[in-house]
Amino acid sequence: MIVVKFGGTSVADAAAIARAAAITRSRAPRRPVVVVSALARATNELLAAAEQAAQGQLIVALRGIEGLRERHLVEADALLGNGGDADDVRAELSAMCDELASLSEALSVLGHLTPRSLDAIAAYGELLSAALVQAAFRRYDLPADLVDARDVMVTDELHTRAVPDLDAITENARRVLLPMLSQGRLPVVGGFIGRSPGGVTTTIGRGGGDFSAALLGAALGAEAIEIWTDVDGMLTADPRVVERARLIEVIRFDEAAELATFGAKVLHPSTIAPAVQRGIPVFIFNSRRPEGRGTRITADAPRRAVSAIAGKGNVTVIKVNSSRMLLAPGFLRTLFEVFERHHTSVDVVATSEVSVSVTVDDPSRLDALLVDLRALGDVSIERQRAVVAVVGAGLGGDSTTMARALGALHGLRVHMISLSATEINLTIIIDGDRLGDAMRALHAEFFDRPPEAA
Ligand code: ADP
Ligand code: ASP
Ligand code: MG
Repeated sequence: MIVVKFGGTSVADAAAIARAAAITRSRAPRRPVVVVSALARATNELLAAAEQAAQGQLIVALRGIEGLRERHLVEADALLGNGGDADDVRAELSAMCDELASLSEALSVLGHLTPRSLDAIAAYGELLSAALVQAAFRRYDLPADLVDARDVMVTDELHTRAVPDLDAITENARRVLLPMLSQGRLPVVGGFIGRSPGGVTTTIGRGGGDFSAALLGAALGAEAIEIWTDVDGMLTADPRVVERARLIEVIRFDEAAELATFGAKVLHPSTIAPAVQRGIPVFIFNSRRPEGRGTRITADAPRRAVSAIAGKGNVTVIKVNSSRMLLAPGFLRTLFEVFERHHTSVDVVATSEVSVSVTVDDPSRLDALLVDLRALGDVSIERQRAVVAVVGAGLGGDSTTMARALGALHGLRVHMISLSATEINLTIIIDGDRLGDAMRALHAEFFDRPPEAA
């Protein structure tokens, strides 16, 4: 079997869902499980409505929800027409929007938003899209069955970025999905959402639909995981930033993981791990151009000096100075335990004799984290930094790459540099407002001119 995942733009409207149906049909002999994201932008709108409701702007929040209702019903009309179970599907979609409106009213009374209630609201994006896509696939004569993702995807209780439990998911996926597949049915599951052992709805982090797809692929021992999105595959850089970015036809798991972690949103970073564990190749394809070759992510692709450039903004740099303690055994462990305690993951690390600098992506728990860090030394914070990453599994073996990378960035202020121990990723921290310039300069250096001209 295979897992076929459609991202938000690939189910954005009736035309996109029709394309998804055609793609799924072309995969039918390989027994697909279909994972869908919320319609493009729906998750953002749901999260905005939740914030507005909790801040007392109930009317604005309800307007947002009515917009979502309207949009799902319009697409349902276009896809389902009249007759059959079209009315039931419309009623079902509308009932979910009623629930959203009630939740928003409750939030506005409470005047307070918790991660748990954010998840309760965000989950509706995928609940709505899965219901719509399943009904539409039936109209296209696909034997689609709707599966409530929460009956399969068990997670912990860390709301908004809950950690999936692969063993429990494997058990559920085999119990719920395998019988469907063996009867020739086509399960349609919403990505991104799950349920805690206590029965509460959770989400596994923004962009988590890819992760859901990989977990289901690992759970069922899939032959392949296909991620269908709005670009031709994994490119040498984000095409929104670097116009000349080009397709990478085959890339290694480890390179793809680094790229995803450092800003290549085309793949959720956690996606790779379950696929690697089971040796399942991951493909990325463009749902608007299904005939394209796409990208294949596997363990055995050749090592290139530089495979791609990634970058992300809004990075916070935390520097801890501690002349007394840095060299003391166990200091770094104590330091990183603080990050662990506050569920904040560290991306890039650089140390000097008396200081440790780290970058974090998610500053939401920074205040509490800083209190604990200050017990270890003087702490300074630099916000609005960006990180650019030059990624290639053969990077360490090519002595010119680092010189070329830094040469390409001349004129830009460099705040931190780190080369990963496996020498696959050179990360450079720069001013946030220069991210685009840095990515274009690095891309031009490594992809637009032949090495001999460098
Ligand atoms: P989906 O909704 O299908 O999950 P995403 O928006 O999450 O799609 O991811 C696709 C986007 O990822 C592309 O539109 C592109 O702008 C961005 N992206 C960033 N880096 C890369 C890269 N190296 N290759 C391809 N796309 C990239
Ligand atoms: N709908 C979710 C999000 O927008 C998950 C996903 O699209 O992968 O973050
Ligand atoms: Mg995505």
